Amino acid sequence: MTRIAVNGAAGRMGQTVIETAADRDDLAAVVGFDVETGEVDGVPVVAEDVADALAEYDVDVVVDFSVPASTLPLAAACVEADAGLVVGTTGFDEDGMEDLVAASTSIPLLKATNFSRGIQVLQRTVREAVRALDGYDLELMESHHNGKVDAPSGTAKTLLEVVQSERDVEPVYGREGHAPRAEDEIGVFARRAGDIRGEHELILAGNDEVVSLSHHAEDRAVFAAGALDAAAWLAGRDAGQYDFGEVVDGA
Ligand code: NAD
Repeated sequence: MTRIAVNGAAGRMGQTVIETAADRDDLAAVVGFDVETGEVDGVPVVAEDVADALAEYDVDVVVDFSVPASTLPLAAACVEADAGLVVGTTGFDEDGMEDLVAASTSIPLLKATNFSRGIQVLQRTVREAVRALDGYDLELMESHHNGKVDAPSGTAKTLLEVVQSERDVEPVYGREGHAPRAEDEIGVFARRAGDIRGEHELILAGNDEVVSLSHHAEDRAVFAAGALDAAAWLAGRDAGQYDFGEVVDGA
């Protein structure tokens, strides 16, 4: 039985992870960390010294859905306590990302901007479509709830990276003004409204046709389930950086 801690436990995703873990028998959420302390679904949520708590609760893997400023000290605590780390938090700057990845020399680390299996498949389909439909115009859209702080979403950035690994395109964010569309640009648009769980769409248009590749998450539980699958998969692995695609492929 893999023992899990959840960082950002009082947040939208943290709560969903704890609730989802309660339905599984391969792992158990034993403690949560957040600035808002208390209890979520019977699991204690504390703000004390994280490394000590990881040892005290004998945690194998920490699942993190918080803010970048919290994830970096958390990674140091995981190194100290020799716990694995699954990171769902998005919005790291370049230095933050480098610091986070550095922890993977000491512990197993798996970071994904999206823990849904469907988005994994979408990434692969996007790669295939961009490769096959050379010269088609590309436009990327995403929509999220009004509490999301980073834009464009981590998933949109990942999809953009997939596109850019196949074609040399420059992102134009939230297009405005008076200028023709350049051949080598990709429009990137972020909408924030209500409680939308997460929608992403890439359109490829040209040759008198439009291909639309899209995904929408219907519930946060899809991300929680994927992150927990990643945690169970990561437990006991050697130090290093792993990819959610490996979990999906059952590697
Ligand atoms: P949220 O604002 O609801 O929750 C964040 C939580 O982190 C809050 O409870 C906050 O109190 C807590 N927090 C802040 N500082 C902290 C600290 N120092 N120590 C411990 N906890 C701290 O946000 P959310 O909607 O749950 O999203 C959290 C993150 O997860 C965001 O970056 C979001 O983009 C990302 N996300 C990723 C995926 C994925 O599949 N990878 C899916 C959904 C959301």
